Amino acid sequence: MQAPVLVLNANFEPVNVCDMRRAVGLLLAEKASLVVNGRGEIKTISQSFPRPSVIRLQKMVTRPRPQLKLTRREVFRRDNYTCQYCGKKTSDLTIDHVIPRHLGGRHMWKNVVAACPACNHRKGGRLPEEANMHLRRQPAEPPTSANYVFGRHLAENAEWETFLTGW
Ligand SMILES: [Zn+2]
Repeated sequence: MQAPVLVLNANFEPVNVCDMRRAVGLLLAEKASLVVNGRGEIKTISQSFPRPSVIRLQKMVTRPRPQLKLTRREVFRRDNYTCQYCGKKTSDLTIDHVIPRHLGGRHMWKNVVAACPACNHRKGGRLPEEANMHLRRQPAEPPTSANYVFGRHLAENAEWETFLTGW
């Protein structure tokens, strides 16, 4: 019941991702309709329900465009799992605040990068120039396209791609 389900607005714009339990609840309450099944059926003694992969809300909801939360996982994904100082691609990454927090650096997309433990240790609590280290690229907010925002689910839910493209 933990599998992610893509929720589309009435106009097919991707709105968010919810879990299977919530998606089935919306379907049973007729607040949403099934768009893509693709995962077989949930069987109870008396009934069986499709296991949705994509559902669509019956009524249009207004809400701001989905935005990515600043999490370690999303910083690593934005930085392509690559240390932004030495360029090593690794699954062993840490978060570095470019301007260290004790110098007033904020926890925001433009001030956080993926760094390997060795580079993070070498930089210590200093500014990059003080440590004679250089960023491979300036950190920025990640893209806001639906393909990117929901992109971390795509490997396991390839059928979502059609519904994400263009938003
Ligand atoms: Zn490094």
